[in-house]
Amino acid sequence: MTRRISIFGATGSIGESTIDLIHRDPEAYEVVALTGGHNVARLAQQARALGAEVAVTAHEENLEELRARLAGTGIEAAAGEAAIEEAARRPADWVMSAIVGAAGLPPGLAALEQGATLALANKESLVTAGPLVLATARKHGARLLPVDSEHSAVFQGLVGEEIDAVERIIITASGGAFRDWPLEKLAEATLEQASSHPNWDMGQRITIDSASMFNKALELIETREFFGVDPEKIEVLVHPQSLVHALVGFNDGALMAHVGPADMRHAIGYALHWPARRHVPVDRLDLAQIGRLEFRAPDERRWPALRLAREVMAEGGLSGAVFNAAKETALDGFIAGRINFVRMSEVVEEVLTRLSADHGLIHAEITLDNVRAADDMARMTARNIIETGA
Ligand code: NAD
Ligand code: MG
Repeated sequence: MTRRISIFGATGSIGESTIDLIHRDPEAYEVVALTGGHNVARLAQQARALGAEVAVTAHEENLEELRARLAGTGIEAAAGEAAIEEAARRPADWVMSAIVGAAGLPPGLAALEQGATLALANKESLVTAGPLVLATARKHGARLLPVDSEHSAVFQGLVGEEIDAVERIIITASGGAFRDWPLEKLAEATLEQASSHPNWDMGQRITIDSASMFNKALELIETREFFGVDPEKIEVLVHPQSLVHALVGFNDGALMAHVGPADMRHAIGYALHWPARRHVPVDRLDLAQIGRLEFRAPDERRWPALRLAREVMAEGGLSGAVFNAAKETALDGFIAGRINFVRMSEVVEEVLTRLSADHGLIHAEITLDNVRAADDMARMTARNIIETGA
């Protein structure tokens, strides 16, 4: 039986890896929607190769070009945020959520409302609106599967286990580009240096977030939301080789580690074939050749993002939406050369301090509208801090 699938963020790093797996077994899938951003040529190519029903670019100004590139194929072309949501409302069995940033939330919710299985690479959905995402899945009988490598690893470690027997969840972090840099040099880190990851080949934004540890900060919150465990039970462990992705500690003292190559096709393949396991074309590890695995505690002076994530988990409500939006804006500022690498976490901390005083904003009901309001306010505040330097 063919499965109807859609891929949101098809032209990105996770999207491309997903398509790589789909291409290996084309008869098994019927592709409904593919979405992308400015890379219209690639999106059109993917849509033709997979025979998609509709291709959507996020940007209205790209619509004409997309239409031209799909002329004569019978594939629909569309553009803009509303068109992405419309595409997410088309019935599908399995949907990959791989847009980067808060923009991934609305189509993810729309897919859950159709009862689709949502493979969630877009961690921002759980950081900004975890309770809403989970409630939407429950209400519509939809399933949520993790794609982030650490969360897929934890998920696999929990198969057949009782959550009450879990004492702790440990997610690993490579430490990113600046793991071993002297602290006083971090302010001088260039965009190019921050955009190169020692182990993983990923989109630019998550690569920089790995160097600043904002990626792991988001993942702490993602772990809390996905598995419903107390923040005190979640730990971050620096592991430079990125081969152990996560460990689950049980009340009998056992630690179950998930070990695998740093290739996202493993986690994507697990979510694609779940609950079965199927062959996935990733390298097999030769542990004798690797010889040793290293672990160390994270240094919170180097990575203040981890401390901020703990504060966000303690505050709850919409502080995750504020945190994420402030982070996205600070990252934009770093990419544009307006602020230095160290300033990113200072900006985020300042936004959190200012907006957590606004109880009405932070502790409003978690609805899509309120998430958007908190997100807007955080971006405005962050831009203001970046511009005025105060
Ligand atoms: P990427 O930058 O390579 O791709 C992002 C995709 O989203 C592209 O298709 C782009 O066109 C689209 N996009 C960007 N902004 C958009 C917007 N405003 N509206 C609609 N579409 C938009 O990113 P990626 O590395 O593939 O990451 C995607 C998501 O997966 C992120 O949430 C990231 O944190 C998560 N993730 C990625 C990896 C990885 O290995 N790359 C690992 C774990 C989790
Ligand atoms: Mg991850």
